[in-house]
This record gives sequence, structure tokens and C-alpha cells, in this order.
Amino acid sequence: MTIETIETIETTCCVVGGGPAGIVAGLLLARQGVDVIVLEKHADFLRDFRGDTIHPSTLELMHELGWLEELLRLPHSKVTAITAEIGGAPITFADFSRLTLRCPYVAFMPQWDFLNFMAEKARAYDGFRLRVRAEVTDMILESGRVAGVRARLDDDGALEVRARLVLGCDGRRSIFRRRAGLEVLSSAAPMDVLWFRLTRRPGETLPFFAPGRGRVLICIDRGAYWQIAYVIPRGELEAVKAAGIDALRDSVGALHPELADRVHELRGWDDAPFLRVQVDRLRRWYREGLLCIGDAAHAMSPAGGVGINLAVQDAVAAANMLGPTLRAGRTPSARELRRVQRRRELPARLIQAVQVRAAGGLYPRDLDDDPADHVPLSFQLFQYIPALRHVAGRLIGVGVRPEHIR
Ligand SMILES: Cc1cc2nc3c(=O)[nH]c(=O)nc-3n(C[C@H](O)[C@H](O)[C@H](O)COP(=O)(O)OP(=O)(O)OC[C@H]3O[C@@H](n4cnc5c(N)ncnc54)[C@H](O)[C@@H]3O)c2cc1C
Repeated sequence: MTIETIETIETTCCVVGGGPAGIVAGLLLARQGVDVIVLEKHADFLRDFRGDTIHPSTLELMHELGWLEELLRLPHSKVTAITAEIGGAPITFADFSRLTLRCPYVAFMPQWDFLNFMAEKARAYDGFRLRVRAEVTDMILESGRVAGVRARLDDDGALEVRARLVLGCDGRRSIFRRRAGLEVLSSAAPMDVLWFRLTRRPGETLPFFAPGRGRVLICIDRGAYWQIAYVIPRGELEAVKAAGIDALRDSVGALHPELADRVHELRGWDDAPFLRVQVDRLRRWYREGLLCIGDAAHAMSPAGGVGINLAVQDAVAAANMLGPTLRAGRTPSARELRRVQRRRELPARLIQAVQVRAAGGLYPRDLDDDPADHVPLSFQLFQYIPALRHVAGRLIGVGVRPEHIR
């Protein structure tokens, strides 16, 4: 018979999930003097299925914290505009160059570098603890209030954390959605993704967004390799697989002939894992003792690469609005939690609507469809009215209701 050891921790705020939302929220609360523990189920931040974008408004937050120059010493590339070639014509969809911010561009930096950087900064605060290999499996309920969580540790141990507030930052498959009975409202995401990498030659450049018949190729520069999101119409995975891995290789080479000499690096389907794109939101982001933010509250599609930015903005708002209450040793009321949702819901819903309705028109509807045949009118106008590109640059790069460090 084995006797399981249960470790117990009492803290003020327990953050579940060490993604952009969780690490930034934990850091900013600890910076205010709040005792915080972040529980992350993985051993590190080196996971692959993540975006790499750091938006102008997130870079502005880094400036407000005094860490911008240090962050930008890490390897990254700068994108000042998003341009795609559709039907042979280049269309610039978003131009960041006129943003009156410190960095009028999107920095492409592997997300693990950004998270490691932020976790390192957070460790400088006494109240901050990060516990990796701690997978939260359940909530502790007391008189209907979330009073903490239970976690499984990698070494077969178990952990119980009791806290005044649990912040659910555990992404789109958040355990709180089901366990806390928070209703999920789903939108139809028009696409799914195969996610793979191909070697990148030094200095090589490729268009970021390249649509073609039945697929779109999004190429993210990660230095030694291209991280590629091969976007397919929703529900077409079986048909893509039935066509065979050679057909996938040919299709990549047809869109980007520069890559044709490397497509053999895709040895089989294991090299191109499937990612289901999800766009949804919680009707209510909270219940007593618990608040969900980031993808846990509103799962974002990769379109426009805005999910990380929104997660960070949610974290800043939550820390600004709840930090003083927590620091004073009080439990945030349901009203205070609702105020965070009220502040952050509009930006998330607006961007989701753009992702699903407007940007959806840039992706193929089925495997025979070419997005060049139905570029939304609003996007065609971008060719003729440059001001629209700047409006889109503001929407993507800053969003509505940008947050600032208090
Ligand atoms: C294929 C793809 C590409 C994308 N590309 C981009 C992009 O380029 N730019 C962009 O801005 N957005 C992109 N997005 C969206 C973006 O990844 C998310 O919106 C963003 O990561 C949300 O941050 P988060 O912190 O809320 O959640 P996540 O980043 O999902 O972080 C959740 C964390 O919680 C941990 N966790 C989960 N469950 C538990 C548990 N039970 N216990 C403990 N820990 C747990 C996870 O390991 C993870 O570290 C992409 C999404 C997809 C699917």
C-alpha cells in the first residue's frame, strides 16, 4: 500500500496555468506585494504549439515596467505591416508604423523566451512562487465558494493550495469551465491547423501569410527553422490525410517554391500534428473565489495573432483591479470579479468577431476553394484606402481599451 503525501500551501492568490495570462498576472500581483503561487503542469515553457507574437501594446507595458530594452536584447524579428499576396496582388491588411507607441511593430519572439524572461523577473519579488509539474485536477469548494485547488505533482505527490482567489489561466481547455459550471458560448471557427517546422536558411525571408486553393500557409521565423501553420478548412483533416503526405509536401512546395527542397523533412503525419482551432467565451468568467482570464475565459483563434496580447491585457486589468483588495488581505467580492469581466469582455468579443467574420473570408471554405475568389470587400478596400490599414494596425496592435501598469 502506498501512502500519498499531501502538501498544503496557504496563499493569497493561486494562479492556475503558466501561459502569458498566468505568468503576467502572477508577476504583477507579486509586484504589488501580494503572495502568489503559479501552478503549471509542464516542466518548462518549451512547448511548441504557441504563437510567437508580442504586440506593440505588450511592448508598451514592458516599457512601463522598465524592462523593454532588456527584453529586446533577446533574439526577435520586427514586423511593421501584415501583407499577403492574394490572387497575385499584395494586400497590406494592417500597418503598425503610425502607432504613437514606443514600438510601432509586432516583435516575433519564441513565446518560451518571453515567458522565461517574465518568470525570471517575477522571481525577484518575495511573494512570487512558480511551481512546475503541478497539474491542477480539481477545485476545493467551501459553502459554494472556490477556496483553492488540488494538484497532482510529477513525483506522485499531491498538493492542496488554499487561497482567497483562484485565477484560472489554464487556457482553452480550462478545467474550471466544466468543474465550476461556467457556460461556454462557442463560435464557428472556420479553420483547423497542421503545425510543423522546416529548416530555414540563414537570412531567408518568406511571406508571413500565403493563401492558396484549399489551404493557407503561415510562416513564422524561428531562426534556424520556419514554424509553419498549414491552415485547412474546418472538418477537412480526413480528406487531407487521405490524399497522403506527398500531397501535403507538394502543396507546401507549390505555395512556396523556396521550400520545395526541404519538404522531405515532413516524414509522416507525426511531424505535422493537428491543432483544433477554437473560438469561444464564457458567459460568466467568475464565481465566488474564482476568476478566469485569457483563453480560459475566451479562446482565441490564431487569426491576427492576438490571443497572447489579449491574455496579457486581461492579466494587467485583473492585477490592477484586484491587487489592492488582495494586498489588504480581503477576498474579492463577486462584484469586483464582475468588474474585471465587464472591462475585458468587449475587447475580447470584438476581436473574436473580427477573427470569425471578417478574417474568416481570407481562408478557404473547402479544399477546392481559393480565398482569392472571395476576398472580403472590406479587405479589398485596404488596397485603395491606406488609412484603413492604420485602423486595422491599431485594432490588432493595440486593441480596444489598452491597459496600463498601475
Ligand atoms: C496553432 C495556434 C497558433 C497561435 N498563434 C498565435 C500567435 O501567433 N499569436 C497570438 O497572439 N496568439 C496565437 N494563438 C492564440 C494564443 O496561443 C492564445 O490565445 C494564448 O496563448 C492564450 O494565453 P493563456 O495564457 O490564456 O493560455 P495558454 O497560453 O494556453 O496557457 C495556459 C497554460 O496553462 C497550463 N495548464 C493547462 N491546464 C493546466 C492544469 N490543469 N494545471 C496546471 N497548468 C495547466 C498550460 O500548460 C499552459 O502553460 C495561437 C493559437 C493556436 C491554437
